[in-house]
Amino acid sequence: MVSVQIQAFLESKLNEFIIPSEKVAHVQLGNSLEHALLVLTKSGYSSVPVLDAQFKLHGLISSAMITESILGLERIEFEKLSDKKVEDVMTSEIPRLLPNFQLEKMVDLLVNHPFICVEDHDGFFEGIVTRRALLKQLNRQIHKLIHLKQ
Ligand code: AMP
Repeated sequence: MVSVQIQAFLESKLNEFIIPSEKVAHVQLGNSLEHALLVLTKSGYSSVPVLDAQFKLHGLISSAMITESILGLERIEFEKLSDKKVEDVMTSEIPRLLPNFQLEKMVDLLVNHPFICVEDHDGFFEGIVTRRALLKQLNRQIHKLIHLKQ
């Protein structure tokens, strides 16, 4: 009974889970790793989407990927940050959702990923859904149900 109510509630709010593209920190193909590291450090996020100039989604880049790519045998080769490009180290193997995604699919993917990119049928980036947004809504609903029962 309770789970049916929570599912109905979450499904009615699916669109509200999306953080729209204009509010998502991102880097573009062709950017240097130095620029990407700056975006990641300043935003405080551990990974961000990689887009092209037309706002099509190409993958994700994380600070761990960047550090790994400049690890030398005996030291971190910081000078490589300005030579290498985002496309040299990013991953394009990422889960993606279409805008009319199912709640079940979103939750499944968020088990293993802190956020999932949403793209339209032509591959244009629409935004992200995050584990935090899902848990926030779930938390709110669970509290409501508990207080209703008392
Ligand atoms: P959160 O659930 O808010 O902690 O976010 C989890 C992850 O989603 C972050 O570490 C980032 O990789 C990504 N993320 C969340 N919000 C944004 C945003 N506004 N711009 C870029 N990435 C984000």
